[in-house]
Amino acid sequence: MMSQIKITKVKVILTAPGGIDLAVVKVETNQPGLYGLGCATFTQRIFAVKTALEDYMAPFLEGKDPTRIEDIWQSACVSGYWRNGPIMNNALSGVDMALWDIKGKLAGLPLYDLLGGKCRDGIPLYRHTDGGDEHEVEDNIRALMEEGYQYVRCQMGMYGGAGTEDLKLIATRLARAKNIQPKRSPRSSTAGVYFDPDAYVRSVPRLFDHLRNKLGFGIEFIHDVHERVAPIAAVNLAKVLEPYSLFYLEDPVAPENMEWLNTLRAQSSTPIAMGELFTHVNEWRPLITRHLIDYIRCHVSTIGGITPAKKLATLSEIHGVRTAWHGPGDISPVGVAANLHLDLSLSNFGIQEYTPMNEALHSVFPGCPEIDRGYAYLSDRPGLGIDIDEDKAAQFPCNGGIPSWTLARLPDGTAARP
Ligand code: MG
Repeated sequence: MMSQIKITKVKVILTAPGGIDLAVVKVETNQPGLYGLGCATFTQRIFAVKTALEDYMAPFLEGKDPTRIEDIWQSACVSGYWRNGPIMNNALSGVDMALWDIKGKLAGLPLYDLLGGKCRDGIPLYRHTDGGDEHEVEDNIRALMEEGYQYVRCQMGMYGGAGTEDLKLIATRLARAKNIQPKRSPRSSTAGVYFDPDAYVRSVPRLFDHLRNKLGFGIEFIHDVHERVAPIAAVNLAKVLEPYSLFYLEDPVAPENMEWLNTLRAQSSTPIAMGELFTHVNEWRPLITRHLIDYIRCHVSTIGGITPAKKLATLSEIHGVRTAWHGPGDISPVGVAANLHLDLSLSNFGIQEYTPMNEALHSVFPGCPEIDRGYAYLSDRPGLGIDIDEDKAAQFPCNGGIPSWTLARLPDGTAARP
């Protein structure tokens, strides 16, 4: 008979083995060798999350029973009175995932089994690709198809933005290839990542026209607008892209402009995915219950972890909305594992974004999921099935800087959404 389980320590591990700052939470217990891991990565504000965990979450949690996941989530969430937001939600997620990891280890079951068991045999993944022009994008897609991928997100010129020098290069290539001329900038330019929404929005249908002509319809394409155009331009884009049969169009409007989805929906049947910026139930509930999106794309740690994600997935299921959890490079392998356990156990899973991991990530995080021919496979190890080598993690310190891609500007120098 085990003595009563208690949380003894909440530890924050910052590491950047892939060159991107990651935050992992380790919840330790009074049972020998029993601990859990969770992802609390908010790259752009990594030290703020660390402080939230060390100064507020740790004292709140120490001494509590780690098996009471729902109670801890609810009470921790309201413990600051003001709640939600990406910093507190990521802190909460680090704890929540770690508690589910502990629960699985106690039960001797992988997390997907605790969540109801496998709904499928493998998890289909999509990969991101980019290129300076449509030929480069085509070549990159062909390489991914060779690797076995059946879903690809296709962008051109990053998300359509570039540093000033790159912008000139891309402008020249676009002008030559497509007769699309991005606007000239004023005589001196503020530093930033420049982006011309009008040239971008004209280039996208031409990209997909090229890709469908060259590659046919035997592969699924995704495109991310990244909320970078005026809402009416997004409505137009969704209409114009219909013949190219996208798997989905991502973030066509900003969270502040969600009511435009009513207009978009009335005019286009291009499937829509949204949600990677969401932090609050009031943001996703109306889109799901009013059938304004087809895929919910939240970042699991930014909404507070596995506990809220499974509720969001159930709400989505009964409204015919499928999941497409955000899976960029700024998520730890622990967060990737959490995504995949949800994916495997949800009947309304849609697709999973996957960003390849380098050797250093694999060595710091033993037990990363297996990827083969466009599918992810989970082991049947208990809990999340992934570990961290803290000595190796310490060899890759975080730098805490602000990524340059967030410093977006329009051609005339106006600050813009990245
Ligand atoms: Mg996106």
